[in-house]
Amino acid sequence: MKVLFLSYEVAPVYKFGGLGDVAYALPKALSKLGIDVRVGMPAYAGITKIDFLPDTNVALIFAEDALYRAEGIVGVHKNPINRAQAFAYFAKDILQTVKKSGWVPDIIHLNDWHTGLVAWWLKVHPDDYFAHTKILFTAHNTRHNGSFPIFYLLSEPKTRDMGQLLQKNNRKTFSFLRRSIVFSDWVSTVSEHFCFEIKHHRFGFGVGKELRSRGERFVGILNGIDYDIWNAHSDPYIAQKFTSATVSEGKAANKLWLQKKVGLPTQAEIPLLSMVARLAWQKGFDITVPVLRKLLLGKAKMQIVFLGEGDALIGKKVKQLADDFPQQVKFFNTYSEELAHQLYAGSDFFLVPSIYEPCGLTQMISMEYATIPISSAVGGLADTVVDGQSGFVFHGHNKLALERTIKRALEAWQDAQKIDGLRRHILEEDFSSRKSAQVYQQLYKRIRES
Ligand code: ADP
Repeated sequence: MKVLFLSYEVAPVYKFGGLGDVAYALPKALSKLGIDVRVGMPAYAGITKIDFLPDTNVALIFAEDALYRAEGIVGVHKNPINRAQAFAYFAKDILQTVKKSGWVPDIIHLNDWHTGLVAWWLKVHPDDYFAHTKILFTAHNTRHNGSFPIFYLLSEPKTRDMGQLLQKNNRKTFSFLRRSIVFSDWVSTVSEHFCFEIKHHRFGFGVGKELRSRGERFVGILNGIDYDIWNAHSDPYIAQKFTSATVSEGKAANKLWLQKKVGLPTQAEIPLLSMVARLAWQKGFDITVPVLRKLLLGKAKMQIVFLGEGDALIGKKVKQLADDFPQQVKFFNTYSEELAHQLYAGSDFFLVPSIYEPCGLTQMISMEYATIPISSAVGGLADTVVDGQSGFVFHGHNKLALERTIKRALEAWQDAQKIDGLRRHILEEDFSSRKSAQVYQQLYKRIRES
């Protein structure tokens, strides 16, 4: 089985969020199952190109056009015209690059809107080389749909032919996401519960109808994490490595070290909560910041560390909270792999109060470090965190529900036996990318036979 896996972000070459992690971990796990998988992405300016994903024999294929190279990652992200042109052209460019190699994929696995026009382009522009190739599109985030005015494509010679085709029936705009959902052979999303939510008219974000109309050809498969990277037993970034046999000592040592590092009072008995997330509406900062403020004003004994970058307004609110409670709240408005690992290892609880969450990796990562999630019951969070067993879960996006749930966690903190039980339970969870790769392998076979 030969699979071409396409993504606009692939760790460690370029990572923006969870998709970058998955675009490394899943191909690596698929290759371990014996699948000949190659990963394709644009060669943005500023990246370090490598031939193989680290510690794998998964080859990387770079589409090299100046359209993405000239502007680099920042340009491609910031300028919508360039973004539309770059990712539209990527669809043609990557197919030509693969053709030159002589390698014919059985499946092209597209990920999120950036790669989505490949499905449409191959259908409207059939190519004998790919005559037996089937297409799977995976939606990692349906809210980002890549909608643009068609004239963006008309104004660039390399994408003019695409613009002209899209213009049929006097259309003025188009969406990469909608086209990929409609034109791929199969469609998946990244957890069973998110798939269920979409099928029951939640979180479709304008493409719910198209997804539902795919019927049985729209499925949910939970993403996994790479335990070679996220592993309390061998993590080079953390102060003290630990296993389930040494979890209490390990957690205590990592927490004291973290408190020192971030400038919080070094007190073992105060519960430390952390949140590592893009500063985005999706992640639930709108209820989190006021609820934490209320709890801190009410003299709740806790410490909180935020790590995230993104929306400036959200950043301002989180910073205000940190400025108002300097002895209890710290905010790192940056991107840091190292600090992220240290927060997963050194915290007692991990906040994931998302409004919607197609899969979510951070709750699974935190569990690997025996850090107990406090999460909303949506999408992949609902599939991975069980209230009272592996975390503290609230229903409905509202402040009261979150406040009560944080209070429950803080109460539980007083009961060392309960915390120990939760930690031992979550350390046994297995959310490995190996598991999701096995399910994808079955799906690829099904798609090939369909
Ligand atoms: P999303 O893909 O919506 O951003 P996920 O939970 O699927 O959310 O994945 C987020 C990934 O990005 C995790 O690996 C998390 O550790 C990482 N991450 C998010 N923000 C930061 C940051 N500021 N610094 C380091 N890692 C981050």
